[in-house]
Amino acid sequence: MSTILTSLEIKELRRDFPLLAQKVYGHPLVYLDNAATTQKPNQVLETLDTYYKQYNSNVHRGVHHLSQVATDAYEAARKTVADYIDAGEDKEVIFTKGTTDGINLVASCFGKAMLKPGDSVVITAMEHHSNIVPWQMICEEKGATLKVIPFNTYGELELDKLDSLLDDSVRILALTYVSNSLATINPVKKIIAAAHEKNIPVLLDGAQAVQHMNVSVRELDVDFMVFSGHKIYGPTGIGILYGKQQWLDKLPPYQGGGDMIKTVTLEKTVYNELPFKFEAGTPDIAGAIGLAAALKYVNAIGIERIQATEAALMDYAMEALQKIPNLRIVGQAKQRAGVISFLLGTAHPFDTGELLDKQGIAVRTGHHCCQPVMDIFGIPGTTRASFAFYNTEAEIDALVGGLERAAKILL
Ligand code: PLP
Repeated sequence: MSTILTSLEIKELRRDFPLLAQKVYGHPLVYLDNAATTQKPNQVLETLDTYYKQYNSNVHRGVHHLSQVATDAYEAARKTVADYIDAGEDKEVIFTKGTTDGINLVASCFGKAMLKPGDSVVITAMEHHSNIVPWQMICEEKGATLKVIPFNTYGELELDKLDSLLDDSVRILALTYVSNSLATINPVKKIIAAAHEKNIPVLLDGAQAVQHMNVSVRELDVDFMVFSGHKIYGPTGIGILYGKQQWLDKLPPYQGGGDMIKTVTLEKTVYNELPFKFEAGTPDIAGAIGLAAALKYVNAIGIERIQATEAALMDYAMEALQKIPNLRIVGQAKQRAGVISFLLGTAHPFDTGELLDKQGIAVRTGHHCCQPVMDIFGIPGTTRASFAFYNTEAEIDALVGGLERAAKILL
């Protein structure tokens, strides 16, 4: 295990995040909503600023100097992403708007090409809505069935059901690496291998994984993986779809327009090669370059050190939260990352969140876009604290103090 960041290092790193220094309602901000979106370091903000001030220009189309500088930076960003997730080829990295966009792309294109009546798609019961709804939509369109891997009361997938669920009708398995509501880290390498034994490709939702741990798409041998830039210290509006070339080549384009074509006549269009086939129109150039700056920032700290630091902080938080009377942790899987979901007695999570907010503590409340998870537990939602490497033990202490004060009012 790597060494954790020292408190001095965290203090210095926090200076990179100007937003964290502010006060909310007169209290120092305690930002514990990192699973929703992370804050952005100066290195990312300055990269965006420099792009717009010095070389803003459209990519792939211009012979002029600025366009070439922008194109080089955009393609260099693709390479940075490919290296970060250990993709074999840069062209297997597609810039999207985010995780949701990437899943919609695969569901739509894979569905069009591969699904027919009687087929099925498998997901898990702990998916974010973005990994449920696009599959429901395409299954409905194609007359296919959506099947679900359940989880137990700890929030761990019931893998003894996997073999029977992955029957001959299954065309694709789509699941999350890390649950955004339960914190469970799923044993995806094992699941991918089991699916591959039956020639079933796998899409991995990496939205809550890539910022917390080293993810190698080649080591996992995953067929598709998606994630969002804004959850890994990058800008909003940019995300990644990784796909094995053999799969991306088989899929039809998602959208038509500029850049995704080789030739167009009024009768027929010849589509461009990868990755451009899936990048119709002017992409989020600044977003892509900003995302690369974020990944370089993470690399400079070291993802293993981030993982170790966050794991220690999660342990500290779990221990402290469990001491609060009437606090119930929702999701108790052995392998966890990123978030702690809980309920404070009979208080509605929204009320708990609101009282924390008034003390400058930002958490998320509600179903976290995982309504099926809440239905399974029979609860309206949870309060969720989610962590980044820049969070401190003092902030956990503030959360605990805030909850104790909230409990006095609510319970
Ligand atoms: N999947 C998971 C596991 C998530 O946590 C989220 C966002 O919270 C998403 C998908 C959707 O991400 P985005 O809204 O950036 O597309």
